[in-house]
Amino acid sequence: MPLVLDREQVLGLYAEAAERKWVLPTFNAENLTTCEAILSAVLEYGQTIDIPDLPVIIGITNLYPPRPQSLYYTHTRQWQVGLRLFLEEMKVLLSDTSPFAELRVMLHLDHIQWDMDAEILHWDMCSFSSIMYDASNLPLQENIARTAAFREKYGHSVVVEGACDEIGKTGSANQMYLTSPDEAERYWKETGVDIIVANLGTEHRAAASELRYHAQLAREITRRIKPCLCLHGTSSVPVDSLHNLFNDGIRKVNIWTVLERESSALLFREMVKNATKIVGHEEVKRMQRDGLLGPQAKTAETASVEYFTTTYRQGIVFEKMKEIVTRYLKAFYRYKKEND
Ligand SMILES: [Zn+2]
Repeated sequence: MPLVLDREQVLGLYAEAAERKWVLPTFNAENLTTCEAILSAVLEYGQTIDIPDLPVIIGITNLYPPRPQSLYYTHTRQWQVGLRLFLEEMKVLLSDTSPFAELRVMLHLDHIQWDMDAEILHWDMCSFSSIMYDASNLPLQENIARTAAFREKYGHSVVVEGACDEIGKTGSANQMYLTSPDEAERYWKETGVDIIVANLGTEHRAAASELRYHAQLAREITRRIKPCLCLHGTSSVPVDSLHNLFNDGIRKVNIWTVLERESSALLFREMVKNATKIVGHEEVKRMQRDGLLGPQAKTAETASVEYFTTTYRQGIVFEKMKEIVTRYLKAFYRYKKEND
């Protein structure tokens, strides 16, 4: 079906998800391969659990300094070109003749910056199912004022996600800073946003290490407001710690880093394993002399078009991303079968 963009329909999907005890995953993407991997994983997983129209959210950031994804979408490095192409490609992928036509897909504009993304606000905001307005680097009072103004202006036509805190902010004593329930409650009441991002102990672009998702804090915030939290920095904690998010009041999660981190590692390994097929034995010998490849790297084969193409590399990334997406789908849509 066409993209689900209308505010009422989007809220309807959130209500349906809550009814089924699903947490809606948002997978961010900055290229077509990632978009297709997400859709392909959702389609296949939906078929295995007998929900062929499984909903999913695909997100993209614009000029968000830590990762301006619309810039990376094309090599023009122009956000207008990247963002338009993302939207057009998603439309085509959800059109009648596409294998993904049955899926219910929402588009999320992520981490819109209150200052540098001002120009995008002249766009048609109805191109997106939801928008995260991010003024979290400002003091709370100013963050609230700007977010409330944004919600006032666009909240009637698009679902608005607000960030009451920066994610992964550290406190003065180098302690992990967490959002207090008081702050979250005030932000919620004064901005009126649909979805709230709070700092629950995770961190953007970090690998699973000592970081911990603070479930108790999520529950306390939820008790003060209502179940409408969105977890960012999801890649920074093990997926095993995320199986109970629904009961903590989390209704949406954002995922990106893990897709790139793990697919890159696999791509590297596969390319080393197939070194001669990719670059030919002369180049492999040169790399062995330079100490970049070990003596076990084969030198007997010649380069092959099956291995030195962009298609080969993207194929490995695509399959790995599908596998990762499926891992999260199992965590967030798992309740369906248990409840049936
Ligand atoms: Zn984020």
